[in-house]
Parts: sequence; structure tokens; C-alpha cells
Amino acid sequence: MTLHIPFENTYARLPDRFYAQQDPTPVRTPTLLAFNAPLAASLGITDATDPAELAQVFSGSILPTGSEPLAQVYAGHQFGNWNPNLGDGRAILIGETKGYDLQLKGSGRTPFSRRGDGRAWLGPVLREYVLSEAMHALGVPTTRALAAVATGEDVYREESLPGGVLTRVASSHIRVGTFQALYARQDVEGLQILMDHAIARHYPDAQSPSDFLAAVIDAQAKLVARWMSVGFIHGVMNTDNCAISGETIDYGPAAYLDTYHPMTVFSSIDRQGRYAYGNQADIIVWNMAQLATALVPLMPNAETAVTEFTALVHAMPDQIRSHHTKLFGAKIGLTDIQDTDRALIDDLLQIMENDGADFTNTFRALSNDAAIDHVIDRDAFMVWERLWRDRLRDATTDPHTTMRVANPAIIPRNHHIEEMIASAVAEDLVPFERLMTALATPFADPGEFADLTKAPTENERVRQTFCGT
Ligand code: AMP
Ligand code: MG
Repeated sequence: MTLHIPFENTYARLPDRFYAQQDPTPVRTPTLLAFNAPLAASLGITDATDPAELAQVFSGSILPTGSEPLAQVYAGHQFGNWNPNLGDGRAILIGETKGYDLQLKGSGRTPFSRRGDGRAWLGPVLREYVLSEAMHALGVPTTRALAAVATGEDVYREESLPGGVLTRVASSHIRVGTFQALYARQDVEGLQILMDHAIARHYPDAQSPSDFLAAVIDAQAKLVARWMSVGFIHGVMNTDNCAISGETIDYGPAAYLDTYHPMTVFSSIDRQGRYAYGNQADIIVWNMAQLATALVPLMPNAETAVTEFTALVHAMPDQIRSHHTKLFGAKIGLTDIQDTDRALIDDLLQIMENDGADFTNTFRALSNDAAIDHVIDRDAFMVWERLWRDRLRDATTDPHTTMRVANPAIIPRNHHIEEMIASAVAEDLVPFERLMTALATPFADPGEFADLTKAPTENERVRQTFCGT
């Protein structure tokens, strides 16, 4: 093998009750569909030039030297219901390099697969590849995509579909649910080891469980506000899909808003709208309360723990709101937020909601002084616009410059993602590659990618997304 990965595995050094050693299952005829060469270089991966070898490695068919493959243990609340036994059922951590996990997703069965086949089909693989890289280009913390491989095997999801493996890169895969798993087993020693490990990797300044919780809350408050500022709906914010690092993780049913409405839901399994666009700020607080609960045994005194942790969790909604105001302030050209700006933001969002305006295009048009073309209730908009222009006169930075770097032109729209997947299944990767190129510079003038800025027509509109498991 020529490929070299400078592994320095730390998770594999943790107690063996944290994971199960597990090799990936080789696949029949792996073909490399995508490889993120700049990301590979930043991870210290060298001699990654032979597509056949990359396909072998990133399908899990051969293990690179130094790999210590394992499936992580975790638990979690799924849609609010406690599940003590989750864990990597279709993912295997092959090792760490330069502080990042390399994880194969769709790499075969593990002790945590339950009734699942441990596999993924190409749809969710390419979907996560595009969505996570787009998220990164938008400047939002996220796991990354290193490779996508077609396995040459079929998987069965009501129908027969082509199989795939995604290589995911994350600053770690430690979740709220990882802490919950140890808490549920009353493994206080394990909790301490996990927290120390997470602190060393993510929050080296934290001196105590309270510092650690505060740091995770801070990261998650920023993350959710950022999602909202780009119109992102995660779709399945279960505690096992909530990373301690504050990175976006698990793009199963994730989607971006076309039409703005706070109650928008795409995920087929989210029947109550628990994870609707506008509920994300509440749900993340709920998730942080679960993390707080799991950390209580690490405090010398349970009563002090509850008082301190409750104060941290209760402060979170204001934190999110303040990030949200700052980010949406920038979307309307303001960097120096004043008390009255919140109302200005809310009034615009209300007009957009009433009109069913396209979230991305309306804000982008605001940057180009053309938002009026995107609203139906022109009178309401003109009243708002007058107040806004008055306010812009006091802006301390050039509003148009502020808005152009806050309002993307191109986001991964559902209908384009679905088209891309359908083409890839028919062995045409041109739409995938074109989307990747366009989404790499979401704030630039779209130029030849103008078609990708268009909101879906009624016929093109995708109403539901699926976990694809
Ligand atoms: P997710 O919806 O991706 O967050 O996954 C929830 C749980 O189901 C995790 O424990 C996964 O590992 C497991 N899972 C999802 N899909 C599969 C599959 N095809 N085979 C085995 N386990 C799976
Ligand atoms: Mg998950």
C-alpha cells in the first residue's frame, strides 16, 4: 500500500467498555466516487493518489497501517424516548489523525447493529457528502466528508439500491449520548475518564464539570443559532446526534428551508414537529439538560451540582437569542446591534412567513436591494423597508458588505440534492460534481450556477426527507 495515514489513536486507549473492536466488512467491487484531497492533505494523509487503493481503504476492504477499528458505545434520547443501547451500528472508527476521527459509515455490521445490516445506500452517502461540505463552506462547524465509495453491492430499503460508504471526519464522535450511556450504567469512573478525554480534545481550559458543561452549552448555542441563520433544519436532534465538540453531525433527514415558515419539518419520521426549524433552539436546551444530568455524579455534591447546572441550562435560551440576533442582524446589514433591532428582524421574518417568501433568496436580495421582488405583501414590506433604511443610516460598517458575507446565494436545496442522487444512481456524477463546485463558494456571485439559486417550482418541491437507514 502506498497510502499513509499518521494515526495517533486516543479513543482506542480508553477502557474497552467504551467500544467494541470491530473490523469493517470488505465489499465486492469498491469504486471511488469522491475524494476530498485538500482535506486529506490537512489530515497528514500522504500518497493518496491511486483511486483503486483509495476505494479499497475507504470502503473498509483493506485497513491502512496503524488503524485500530472500533465501534463506539452510546445511548440516547430519540424523539424524547430513552434508548439505552445505541452505539455505532453501521459506522466504524478506523482511527484518528491530527486530532480528527476517521469514521467509515456503511461499513458493515457491528455488535450494535441490532436488526440493521450495517450498510448505507448511495443516497444518504452522497447527501451527507454534499451537505456537510456545504455547511463547512458556509462557515458553520460540522463534520467533514473525506471520501465516498460505491460498494458494488446492493442494499435493501424496501427496494434494491446501490450501496455506498462515506468516510466522515470529526474532531470527535463523542455525543451527549456517550455520556448518557455511562451515566445509565452508573459508571462514574467511566464518566470521569470520558469527560477528561473530551476536555483534552475539545475544551482544554475547562477545570471542572461545570466548566465543561458551560463550554459545550456555549458551542451548541452558537451552533443552533448559526443553523437558523442559514435556514438549516437538522431534522433529528436526538441526544445521540448531538456532538460534544459543537460540530453539526448526522445529516440523515437534514434539509434547508426553501419557503420560510418556523414550523417547517422535512423528516418523514418527525410527525409531531419536535425538530421543526423554529423548535431547534428549545430542543438543544433540552439536550443540554440531559448532558447536565449525566454529569451530576462527577460533582462532589449533588445539590451544588443541580444548582450550578440548572443555572447554566437556564441561561442558554438567552445565549441562543443573543447569537441569533447578532447573526440575523448581520443578515440585514447591522454589526452593532441595538435594542430595537430584534423587532426589526422579527418584523421582516413575519412578513416572509406571511408571504411564504424564499428564505435564502429574500435575504440575498436584500443585499442587492431587490428584496421587494420576493414579497407579495409589498405594502407591508415597504413600511418595513423605510424603518430599515432609517436604521442603516446609523450603521457603523457598510451594510452591503456585511450582508453579502452573511447571506449565501447558493445552499444545497432539497430538489437539487434529490436530482443529484437520482443521477448518481444512474452512474452520472456530473450533477454531484457541479453541486460541490457551486457550494464551495456560497457567498460568491453565482454566475454559471444561477440555476442552483432558484427556489423549487411546486412540482419540484421536495416535501419529505428520509433518514435512509
Ligand atoms: P441515526 O438515525 O443515524 O442517528 O442512527 C440511530 C441508530 O441506529 C444508531 O445506533 C445507528 O448506528 C443505528 N443504525 C442506523 N442505520 C443502521 C443500519 N443500516 N444498520 C445498523 N444500525 C443502524
Ligand atoms: Mg446518529
